[in-house]
Amino acid sequence: MERGQVAIADFLCTHCWTSRRVTGRALVTDYLRSHPIQQHRDLCPARKDNP
Ligand SMILES: [Zn+2]
Repeated sequence: MERGQVAIADFLCTHCWTSRRVTGRALVTDYLRSHPIQQHRDLCPARKDNP
């Protein structure tokens, strides 16, 4: 990540195609710390077919 660029975190679930984008260095850091992928697995509507 170069200085001056806006930090972006993209999340895409290939099971249910939920996508989420977070921008901003502080938000991205918080977002990644919250383990969004694991968290989404608990909520993913397609999870029962694709654990
Ligand atoms: Zn999902």
